[in-house]
This record gives sequence, C-alpha cells and structure tokens, in this order.
Amino acid sequence: MTTNVLAQTLDPLALAGQLAGKLLINGALTPAISGKTFAVDNPATGRKVADAALGEKADVDAAVAAAVKAQQAWGRMAARARGKLVAECGRRLNEHVEELGRLVTIETGKALRTESRVEASVLADVFVYYGGLGSELKGESVPFSPDMLTVTTREPIGVVGAIIPWNAPLLLMALKIAPALVAGNAVVVKAAEEAPFAVLRVGQIMSQVLPPGVLNILSGFGPECGGPLVAHPKVGKVTFTGSVETGRIVYKMAAEKLIPVTLELGGKSPMIVMADADIDRAVAGAVAGMRFTRQGQSCTASSRIFVHEKLHDAFVDKLRAKVDAMKMGDPLDEATDIGTVISRQQFDKVQSYIRIGKQTPGAHAHECSALPRDPKLKDGLYVRPVIFTDVPEDSRIAREEIFGPVTCIFKWTDYEQVIAAANDSEYGLAATVWTRDLKTALDATRRLQAGFVQVNQNLVVQPGLSYGGAKHSGLGKEASLEAMLDHFTQKKTIILNMT
Ligand code: ADP
Repeated sequence: MTTNVLAQTLDPLALAGQLAGKLLINGALTPAISGKTFAVDNPATGRKVADAALGEKADVDAAVAAAVKAQQAWGRMAARARGKLVAECGRRLNEHVEELGRLVTIETGKALRTESRVEASVLADVFVYYGGLGSELKGESVPFSPDMLTVTTREPIGVVGAIIPWNAPLLLMALKIAPALVAGNAVVVKAAEEAPFAVLRVGQIMSQVLPPGVLNILSGFGPECGGPLVAHPKVGKVTFTGSVETGRIVYKMAAEKLIPVTLELGGKSPMIVMADADIDRAVAGAVAGMRFTRQGQSCTASSRIFVHEKLHDAFVDKLRAKVDAMKMGDPLDEATDIGTVISRQQFDKVQSYIRIGKQTPGAHAHECSALPRDPKLKDGLYVRPVIFTDVPEDSRIAREEIFGPVTCIFKWTDYEQVIAAANDSEYGLAATVWTRDLKTALDATRRLQAGFVQVNQNLVVQPGLSYGGAKHSGLGKEASLEAMLDHFTQKKTIILNMT
C-alpha cells in the first residue's frame, strides 16, 4: 500500500481556503467551468468559511463524462480488489478524522466533541465495512434445465448520482459512495450548498487511492447542479437524502428516465415509554434520540415522545434537567455539547415553529440550556432547545417535521391508543419502545410502522444494519449488505446451452 501523501491540516479555515473554488473531477481539483463561486458561512460566527465552486450543468457533464470513462475499467476489476481499495480509503480517512471533524464543524456549526468528530470516524468505518463486502456480490445458479447452466450475476449499474444534505454530510456521503463503488459503479456526488468542503476533502483523500474519475464531487445549488445530475442521460441511478419536497422532484425526474432511485427523506419519529420502563434509561434515550447535541437536525429525531401517565411528570422533569445541563457554545470548544443550526433560513423556520407551539392553546413550552454569552458568538445561529408538553396531537408542531431542537411529550394511558397515535403520521422512519416486558416489546415492534425500530436504546445508523423509512420517509435501504445488492447492482440472467 502507498503511504498517505496528504498531510493532516488541523486549521479548518486554512483547509477550506485550500479547497475554495474547486470541484473534484477526474481525480483533480478544478474550478467550475464558469469560474463562478458562492460563499459558505460559518453558522456559529456568521463569518465566511470560504467560497465554494458553483457547479452547474457544464460541470455535471464533465463529471459524468469522467465517471462514464472510469467506470469501464472499474466495473471490470475483481470485486474484492475494488473492495480492498475502498477499505484502504476508509483506513486513510481514519487518519483524517480530526481535520474532517473540524472542517465539518466550521461549515455546519455542529459541536466537534459530540457530533462532528464522531461523524468523521463513522465515515471511515463505513468505507472499511463495505470494503470487506466485495465477494458478497454473488448471483445464483438456477436449476432451469439439466442440459444448461443457468446463472444470475450482479452487474454494476454504471454511473450513480448521489445527492446529499448538510446535516450529516460525511456519514451520508459514505452510505452512498462506499456500496456504489464496491459494486463497480462510478459516482458523482452533489454536496449540499451549505457544507461542501468536508465532502470535497474526503474526495481528495480518496482520489489518492482510487483511479481518476471513479469518484467526482460537485458543489452547487439544487436546481442548477443537482437537477442536471438527476436528468443526465448517462446517470443510471440516483440516491438522494434530503427533504420530502425535493425527494418528490428527484423521483419525478428519475421517472422520466425510468431509472431506479433510493430516497431517504424526513421523519417525525415516535418514542413510546411504557409504564414499566427504566425511566433514567428512557430519559437518556430521549436526549440521544432527539439529537439535542445536533440542534435536533436529524431525520430520525425522536420528536414525538409518548410517556405513560404514571411516569410522565417525572420524565418531563428529568429530561428538562438533562437538557438544561447541556452547554451551548463555540462548536470547536471541547466543552460544548450543542452547536448551532445550519442557516438563517433554518433558524427562522425553527423559531416560527416555536412561536406556533407557544400559541397553541393549552401547550406549555419548557426552554432549556442557555444561549452562549461569548461576544464572538453573538451572530451565531443558536436556538434554545424546547420541550413542549400538553400539545394536542393534531397540532402543527406535533405533526410536521421541524428539523430543530423541539420535541413534544404526550401523556398516554391506553396502549391501543398510543400505538395508533404513534402510527398516525405521514412519516415512518424510526421508532423506539421503552419497556421491561418482552411481550409488549414484541407486540409494539411488530405494529409500529417504521423502518428502524429499537427497544430500550436509540442508536444512530450502524454499518451492517439496514436503514430506511416507510411511508413518506423514503424508498429503499442504506448502510447494509442488502443496500449494496438491491440498490447498486442490476441482475443479469445468463443461460449457457452447450449441447
Ligand atoms: P434541506 O432542506 O435539508 O436542505 P433539500 O432537499 O432542499 O433539503 O436538499 C438536499 C439536497 O438536495 C441538497 O444537496 C440540495 O442542493 C439538493 N437539491 C435541492 N433541490 C434540488 C433539485 N431540484 N434537484 C436536485 N437536487 C436538489
């Protein structure tokens, strides 16, 4: 194996400066064809991080052309050899966890200790996981006729377009790129306009290992850069994570071309606390599940918490105390638990939901933690977490995805009613159940309409476990072997008749 020639750069502003105005096409950092750029701001300070290259249709065309060319040899390589290279990418990315964590921190405002560093190490782990799965790209032998050999094979699709959001850019890029590459595809990624630099840095590190053109990274805006990528005639598959609204647009464009799509969209995930639950464990699960450390900016956030009346008041008090004790501050500071939301637009949206909640008749808002006092952070997009109680189940804050640090706690008494209430949502991404009773756990997990259901824990995406939603939360699975086989290969049936 060659050594890692890219040194760690722990000053994230300097690193962003090195990546400014660049796309990754055919293994090289290159400006947008138009030469245009757009500013990316640090949501904790309001100051510019750097200018990113404004990718548009011409850049999409260049990236897809490079991918088409590179895929021919890549797709013919032995699957295990491809896997080895992808695992090597994981090993190298692991050496860059600190710098990637810091870079994603300054573009997203996520706290380094609780969020960004963790995400950067999971990124590396996903590449290592998928790197070991090359030999699992198996087909079948079919007993069609004794005189013929009939087999199925799994072929690469060709060029995959991957569109990712800003809330977990590293993890979400890995879940798309790693299986697509191991399966023999070339990939063109469209990073989120809010957070393009860490994604570009990952591409740069990986291009030390991969043949040029196998992985290309674009930055730019949705309709001008993501749109042409989905519409490109040579893109044979689109994998998208983002809002339901954009997911619909992407799905319609893909339908025109009759190509497969994977969609990971929104959520309004329920958490049901039974009367016999371990309350402290459930409270810790609510803190983790609601992703307060990420300002609630997660599609899996436990934003509807149903607590049995016996535990309700104590649960609310304990949760408030826990969230109150969390420190909001400079995202790069190791003492900080909670960073900022991503953008002014998102900040305004979350604040408007909080106002709507406060105006909802009967609702009580419990605001937690405290805004940072450091004058350097005065323009930072900090939102105090809010726990709402006594909210009607049909109110807007109880039904709509807020994507902010806002959760609703409902008191329940009847088991049938709480299962029905948990399922009464257009979404179906994740759900958790908190109980010591096996029968209740089995019954609830069977009946909850969600793609990822956990009992007495609230883990995030894990390499090896299929992750993906029901209903409006999406189509298809990610993170597992099944995700690679079902979503990044196409089956071919071959009959050999040598009689
Ligand atoms: P969010 O509200 O989380 O930003 P979006 O769904 O708008 O979610 O964005 C997720 C990703 O989809 C981003 O990379 C964005 O640029 C991209 N995107 C937005 N609009 C389109 C579009 N019309 N076509 C393709 N990609 C798009």
